Amino acid sequence: MKAINLLGSTGSIGTQTLDIVTHHPDRFRIVGLAAGNNVKMLAAQIRQFRPKIAAICSQEKLPALQEAVKDLDPQPILLAGEAGVIEVARYGDAETVVTGIVGCAGLLPTIAAIEAGKDIALANKETLIAGGPVVLPLVNKYGVKLLPADSEHSAIFQCLQGVPKGGLRRILLTASGGAFRDWDVEKLAEVTVADALKHPNWSMGRKITVDSATLMNKGLEVIEAHFLFDLDYKDIDIVIHPQSIIHSLIELQDTSVLAQLGWPDMRLPLLYALSWPDRIYTEWEQLDLVKAGNLTFREPDHQKYPCMQLAYAAGKAGGSMPAVLNAANEQAVALFLEEKIQFLDIPRCIESVCDRHQNDNCTNPSLDDILAADRWARQEVLNATKKLATSSRIISVR
Ligand code: MG
Repeated sequence: MKAINLLGSTGSIGTQTLDIVTHHPDRFRIVGLAAGNNVKMLAAQIRQFRPKIAAICSQEKLPALQEAVKDLDPQPILLAGEAGVIEVARYGDAETVVTGIVGCAGLLPTIAAIEAGKDIALANKETLIAGGPVVLPLVNKYGVKLLPADSEHSAIFQCLQGVPKGGLRRILLTASGGAFRDWDVEKLAEVTVADALKHPNWSMGRKITVDSATLMNKGLEVIEAHFLFDLDYKDIDIVIHPQSIIHSLIELQDTSVLAQLGWPDMRLPLLYALSWPDRIYTEWEQLDLVKAGNLTFREPDHQKYPCMQLAYAAGKAGGSMPAVLNAANEQAVALFLEEKIQFLDIPRCIESVCDRHQNDNCTNPSLDDILAADRWARQEVLNATKKLATSSRIISVR
């Protein structure tokens, strides 16, 4: 029986994790739950899973949460704020912490969980992208495992089981191509928020769905793969695979290529992150290759989607640059979702902020350096958009 602390319990990753726990009560139990601000859903989850501790990130919602579960006996410990989320991350006898928090907000709770000796089911790629230089040494120091729950990295991790050290030559990350894969590049200037939130294959949260539409998600996954699998950027490639049946591939030294296949369903990588190294029987729909039909592949279009190359460049620059890239992207996507900037402004914002960080890039950043770079990049994006509002022209880049 594996005990789990779940961060981001009311989001897409969180609810799918709880679905797994519901269907495998003999294998998993919930010790702690943390959510952002959805009191109603968190209260229902506390009722169903009876955690020992729960936290709501927005401070002012704590009284409502206390009220909503006041009849429960025994009472769970109820906390609020970022400190509350961190407390859930490191609490009790949980072996594994599922990090389903969106964005860089997952970094501090993840570090707290590692320092408490817990394995991480990594469903928050930003943690590693921004915090890689700090997180990886901690993973080694505390001897915990980082188990990827991102579908591509889970695929690679699954393919790597049994591959001897030094056997891996190259990683091939598959990308669906996002919501606009069949749109002309000219039309991208008119993209609305509703357009960007329609993902053709995967059901995910809002931020990651926009990241999929810009293909920044794939760029971020390149950096994530670099940190997770200790591979050079030149050995990590992207291939567009619109059907999302092959979740990624690895090439070995002898040119043999291994792939992991399945219907696009986030629960599968999540389950493997929780059950590893075991394989658990599920009732999920089995893959039918005939029904899947054609599996096709094409080259990524870097003209149409500049975010991939921005991510490669930031990854190669290393230091605090990936944190800047990630923070600029998070802020730009948030502004796009608020309809304050256009879809094509997202890569423009990121590029100009990364350019301005070049001379200040901190090669061996501490946690404070990373957090400072993150704050700086967000503010830079906000400043650039204010200028945009006053000058009524598109954010200027070189
Ligand atoms: Mg992914």
